[in-house]
Amino acid sequence: MEKKKFLETESDIQTLMERLFPICRSITGNGVRETLRILQEYIPLVTHEVPTGTKAFDWTVPKEWNIRDAYLLDPQGKKVIDFKKSNLHVVNYSIPINTRLPLNKLQEKLHSLPELPDAIPYKTSYYNENWGFCLTDAERQELPDGEYEVVIDSTLADGSLTYGELYIPGMEKEEILLSCYICHPSMGNDNLTGMVLLSLLAQELLSQKEKSRYSYRFLFLPETIGPIVWLSQHHAEVSKIFYGLVATCVADSGPFTYKKSRRGNTVGDRAVEVALRDLQKEHSIIDFFPSGSDERQYCSPGLDLPVGSLMRTMYGKFKEYHTSADNLDFVSAKNIIDTAGVYRETLTILDKNATYMNQNPFCEPQLGKRGLYVSLGPAKNEETNETAMFWVLNYSDGKHSLLMISEMSGIAFRTIRHVADLLLAHSLLK
Ligand code: ZN
Repeated sequence: MEKKKFLETESDIQTLMERLFPICRSITGNGVRETLRILQEYIPLVTHEVPTGTKAFDWTVPKEWNIRDAYLLDPQGKKVIDFKKSNLHVVNYSIPINTRLPLNKLQEKLHSLPELPDAIPYKTSYYNENWGFCLTDAERQELPDGEYEVVIDSTLADGSLTYGELYIPGMEKEEILLSCYICHPSMGNDNLTGMVLLSLLAQELLSQKEKSRYSYRFLFLPETIGPIVWLSQHHAEVSKIFYGLVATCVADSGPFTYKKSRRGNTVGDRAVEVALRDLQKEHSIIDFFPSGSDERQYCSPGLDLPVGSLMRTMYGKFKEYHTSADNLDFVSAKNIIDTAGVYRETLTILDKNATYMNQNPFCEPQLGKRGLYVSLGPAKNEETNETAMFWVLNYSDGKHSLLMISEMSGIAFRTIRHVADLLLAHSLLK
């Protein structure tokens, strides 16, 4: 068996991004299969194929789309658009076409961005059979009049929708869901970086010696239809979701954005906020809204799962979004590692959170006689640790979790957890 590849250094991450970036992905087809096959060199993803025509709630799995080539030849026979140079040049899911059109007719099928004249827009036509080309506005302005040869060598046929899944059992059956989408062609932040980040986190969890508390489920799905299909077929698993995150836009240089779950105040939502606070990351927290990415499906009213989305700059909020300017220069391996730190801290908080009972609730226990004033660690932390101890003792009444105590006190969760462990060791908590 091939040796597993690791994602430990910036260069490992960069290599994976460079391999995945050029692939022409879509919501179905060989681009998705190739992507998952590469990811399987890193993590043991199980792939599933769901046939065209399969019903999923109000949706139906579409025909599978594959493309080999596409181009436009100008009246002189010069190739003015070439799919082989950028897969964004073709409207994703374009039906096959081979025709000749005058420029004025062709214009109806062209897409460009006058406000970003050097970027190729990313357009799709998934559930409406159509075709089109995308190009920079600068290129578009240069197109000479006359008749063009239009070729899109694609197929739209019965096949299947492909997705990847990785389940890592923990001590508890309750699951933490980490979901990303795998349907965008050559774009970086949205959503190549989500796949890479989740692969990195999965590797870390798999390499832990001890089982984690929660079980983990990683889903690599085409956006929208992917979670709809998965949710419609996994009622038992859905009922076990304790918390979840949708990973997208995780590697630009902007500050963090956390989009809360629809419920808004779940343990997971609060763990993210504390993780961002404790790691001193510049961030904003926004309430759930029903557009955006796959949190739309996870948080639909019939399910209302506790799933949020932790991003850097949110989709739609950076000018490069859904254009060729969202490329590998716009993101970095360094930022993926930085974002992974916040995901990891959130998962650690969830893993280590607990609620205790103070065993000595009538006035404070005498800490000095137990040596607890001296066992508090380095001198500069003594005051915080001592204060943390008072917070934990006072609020460990069976109603306040360590996470709540960390929120109330403003003291880092790790410090709260550390002193709780000391108090447990002295039988002052149960
Ligand atoms: Zn997108």
